[in-house]
Amino acid sequence: MVIFVASKNPHKIQEIKLVTPDHVILRPIESDWTVEENGETFLENSVLKAIEYGKCVGGPVLADDSGLSVDALDGFPGVMSARYLEGASYREKMESILELMKNVKNRSAKFVCCATYYDPNKPFLISVQGEVRGYISEEIRGEKGFGYDPIFIPEGYNKTFGELGEDIKKHISHRAVAFKKLFEILSSLGLI
Ligand code: IMP
Repeated sequence: MVIFVASKNPHKIQEIKLVTPDHVILRPIESDWTVEENGETFLENSVLKAIEYGKCVGGPVLADDSGLSVDALDGFPGVMSARYLEGASYREKMESILELMKNVKNRSAKFVCCATYYDPNKPFLISVQGEVRGYISEEIRGEKGFGYDPIFIPEGYNKTFGELGEDIKKHISHRAVAFKKLFEILSSLGLI
């Protein structure tokens, strides 16, 4: 069966594919579709994307809203992760976060992902959240992954996601946790 994915981020789509059951084919957005992500939480934005895109394709869709939340910065950049320093490169965004964290002892942080499935024909909607806890590194390390991966060290490791890459992310990342849980629920409901 085919499920559309309300994301244009090839890294996200690849990470979702790695935890998708074999009989489910993910189809990325092919139109110029965009949605204003004006929610205050990952849940709100994930549901917004799923409903808007679900209406657009007229069938089941998956949406992902995610971001980095740094404890010492009161959860910043959070839902602003993608829009922080708009127009700047991720190296510049990470340098800026490291600057904000200069001399900060508490480096704990988490990545959060809210995964939503929506079928406009029933209608039926379900959202689940996944998290991975860890720490902000002292410097940018690694070339793998995307976004803030090179400054995030997951708990239990001494390398950043940028160094560890998808072999580890597919087991422990916020996205892997959320989508594995979502697919389990959809399967137990006979929806996939
Ligand atoms: P969204 O497309 O609005 O969900 O934005 C998510 C943003 O959060 C991304 O553009 C990244 O900046 C950040 N982010 C989310 N997940 C990850 C991840 O797995 N690694 C690194 N950065 C991430």
